[in-house]
Parts: sequence; structure tokens; C-alpha cells
Amino acid sequence: MSTASIRLFVPSPLAAGAEIALSEAQSHYLANVMRAKPGDELRIFDGASGEWRAAVTGISRKSVVLTARAQTRPQAPEPDAWLCFALLKRAKTDMVVEKATELGVAVIQPIITARTQADHVNLDRLRAIAIEAAEQCERLAVPEIRAPLPLARLMENWPDRPLFIADERRTSALLAPASGPCALMTGPEGGFTEPELEAIGRTPQVTRVSLGARILRAETAAIAGLALLLAAQP
Ligand code: SAM
Repeated sequence: MSTASIRLFVPSPLAAGAEIALSEAQSHYLANVMRAKPGDELRIFDGASGEWRAAVTGISRKSVVLTARAQTRPQAPEPDAWLCFALLKRAKTDMVVEKATELGVAVIQPIITARTQADHVNLDRLRAIAIEAAEQCERLAVPEIRAPLPLARLMENWPDRPLFIADERRTSALLAPASGPCALMTGPEGGFTEPELEAIGRTPQVTRVSLGARILRAETAAIAGLALLLAAQP
């Protein structure tokens, strides 16, 4: 099988001749699933040095070493967008993380609201989903997945960043594509409570927005809202 279409996220800084020891999982994939051989080439990226062509220079069943050969794409800026979404049940949260990564988000901040129906999340699993999505969609960086925060705590220290809160019950203006730093917040299946919306509304950077005439499922709102928000970004 050819390894040329493979892209792997490697945490180490990349430069010509740099040797990269892959993780056990990545080594297993290359050595035992893709049956890579010494000399086979693939692409790697580390989120800061662009994308590089690399060759397999060391291989055993449990460990593979690559050597970076040449840069194929320079590191390029990606949208500075955050998604703050009310934590959903596992499969839906997985889907939101995967699609938000494909859409170019920079930070994924799960939030706990009054009506959130999930309170536990496996961050390592979500980070693995984000890495796989970034590898597949040819991004040059992997979004940061933050630990869930109660909504009130997040808003206590909200940074200088426009926050668009998706509110299905208002006649707010339709969310328009944003440029520069921005954030989208979407609620849980049961929606935000009125006190939550009022409390959030007291933060100067907040704008209530509509995502259209229909009531979207929470996961649809997060994904569709991000697509709208980032429609004009590179
Ligand atoms: N309150 C809704 C109801 O009565 O069915 C349930 C909330 S909706 C399933 C989940 C979240 O998606 C909402 O909190 C909101 O953030 C977002 N959402 C869904 N449809 C929307 C719309 N048309 N405009 C803005 N936000 C929307």
C-alpha cells in the first residue's frame, strides 16, 4: 500500500534532517496496517513548522522513525475562532469536535449549562479525534481542546473577543461571517435558560444571533453556526 497519501501530526519541531520517533499507535498504523518499508514517504506537520515530506528511516513492529526531508507547505495562519458549545452526549460531542476541526476552529471549549445533559468528557479521546480530523482535512494545526467549564466561570473572565451566542428564540439578526478573533456559543438540547441568556448578555462582547428560521439540534447548531461564522475566512 502506498504511504504517499498519509499525513501525520507529530509534536516535535520540524526541520530538514530532523528525526521523528512516532507514537506507538502511529508506528503500529504505519508498520502493521500500512506495511510501510524503509524509504517510503508520507507527509507530517507539527502545527508550527508547516507540512513536510518525510521518509521512513527506522521501522520495527512497535516503533517507526521518520526523517524530515523537505517542506511541502509553509505554516499559514488559520482562523482565530473559538467554539463554546454546551457539552453533549458522547457521540454528538465527538461529531462536533470532528466537524469543528474540519471547519477550521482554533479552540474548542465545552461548557456546562443548566440544561447540559452530559458532565464527563474524555479529553484525550477528543484530542485524538481532533488530530485525526486535522490530518484528514489537510490542516496545518490541530485545535486546542479545553476542559469543560461552567458557563458562569467562562463568562467571568471572557477575553476581548466578539462572542456570538446562538439564540433560537429571538428575532436576532442572522449570524454573518466574521473576520479576525471571534467565538460562537451554542446551547444544549434544552436550550439556554433565560437567566443564562441575561447573564451572558451583560458581557459587552456578546451579540445574540439567529442561525435561521428552523430550530436546529444542538450539534447541528454548533456545526452550521461555525460554517456560517467562518465562511469568509481562509
Ligand atoms: N429551545 C430549543 C427548543 O425549544 O427546541 C432547544 C434548543 S436547540 C435544540 C439547541 C441550541 O441550538 C440552542 O440553545 C441554540 O444555541 C442553538 N440553535 C438551534 N436552532 C437555532 C436557531 N435557529 N438560531 C439560533 N440558535 C439555534
